[in-house]
Amino acid sequence: MSEFINKRLKGLAPYVPGEQPENFDKVIKLNTNESPFLPPAEAIEKAADALTRINLYSDPSAKKLTKAISEYLGVDKSNVSVYNSSDEALAIAFMGFCENGVAVNDITYGMYTIWAELFNAHVTLIKLKDDFSIDVNDYKGLKQTVVIANPNAPTGLTLSLEKVEELVSADKSRLVIVDEAYIGMGAVSAVPLIKKYDNLMVITTFSKTRAMAGARLGYIAACPSLIADCERIRGAFHPYNVNMVTQALGEYSLKNNDYFNECTNVLIKNREYLTEELQNLGFYVLDSKSNFIMCRPPKKDGGRYYQLLREDNVMVRYFDRDRIREYVRITVGSKEQLDILIMLTKKYIEGGLI
Ligand SMILES: *Cc1c(COP(=O)(O)O)cnc(C)c1O
Repeated sequence: MSEFINKRLKGLAPYVPGEQPENFDKVIKLNTNESPFLPPAEAIEKAADALTRINLYSDPSAKKLTKAISEYLGVDKSNVSVYNSSDEALAIAFMGFCENGVAVNDITYGMYTIWAELFNAHVTLIKLKDDFSIDVNDYKGLKQTVVIANPNAPTGLTLSLEKVEELVSADKSRLVIVDEAYIGMGAVSAVPLIKKYDNLMVITTFSKTRAMAGARLGYIAACPSLIADCERIRGAFHPYNVNMVTQALGEYSLKNNDYFNECTNVLIKNREYLTEELQNLGFYVLDSKSNFIMCRPPKKDGGRYYQLLREDNVMVRYFDRDRIREYVRITVGSKEQLDILIMLTKKYIEGGLI
C-alpha cells in the first residue's frame, strides 16, 4: 500500500471474483453464471459494424439502446438509464442513494457490502430465514435503503411480486433497490411497479441470461425523477460509460428476443435436469429460478465436492462462509457440460467421497 491512498480506503477489501482460467479448452466452466450461448448473430454483426467507427466516442446517452430497452420493458425512455454493467449501475445507486445507510441480507451478492464500504454507507445486515428465504417483515420500520437481489444469489430463491410490492409500499419514504441480475428464468420482474411507486429502482444486467458478460451492460429502470438523478451522477462520473460495440450488442439482443427466449427455455430445461439428477444422487437442491443452482452433497461438505470437481477440471463456485459452507453453486451450462459434471458426481458418490 502506498502512503497516498485515502485513509478511509485503507481497509477496503475488493471482491474475489470466480476464477477465469487461462486455458478454456481444458476446463468446464460452471463457476460464474455465464451463458453457454452467444448473443444472436445479428447482434454480433452489428457489433462488428460498430468497430468500424471505434475511433469516435460512443453516444453518451445511448439513445437507440435506451429506446430498445424501454420498448422491451413497456415503459418510457425517461424510465431507463444504461450502464457499463449492472455493477456500475449498482455502484451509482450506492454512491447516490444510501445516505441513511443500507439494509442487505447476510447471504447475497458480495459486492453490496463492498460498495457500502467504498461509498461510506452504514450496513444493516438482515439475516435470511433458516431456509434462506427473505421475510419482508424483517424490513418493517427500517429507514435505510433496502437492496435485495431477486432471484437472490447465490441461493437462486425468489421473492414473489406481491412480497416485493409489500416491501416497496410499506414505506414510501424509503428507497428499495431490486437487483434482477437473473430475471427471465422463472422469477417475476418488479419493473411494472415503477409506474406505481417512486421509491423503487430495478437494476438488470445483460451478463447472465443475455449472454453478454464480456460486453458489460446493465440498466436501471425507475420513475423519471430517480432516473434523472441517476443520469446526473452518471454524467458526472462517466459520461461515455457504454462503449459503441456494447450499445449495438444490447440493442440487437433485444430486437432478437425470440432467440433469447429459445436459449432461456433450453437453460430452464437443463436446470430442471441437473436438479433432478443431483436429487436422485441424494443432494439437497434449493429451488432456483436462476441460471445456477445451489446444492448440498449428501455428506454436506461443499468444499470437498468443489475440490474434487476442480481436480477433474470442472469449475464450480464454493463460498467458504458461515451458513453456506455445506453447499456449492453450479452454473447451468450446456447439456454436454452438465452430463460430464453428473458423471463425475456419480463417481464420487460411488467412491463414498461426498
Ligand atoms: C452477476 C451479478 C451482478 C453483476 O453483473 P454485471 O452486469 O456483470 O456487473 C450483479 N448482481 C448480481 C446478483 C449478480 O449475480
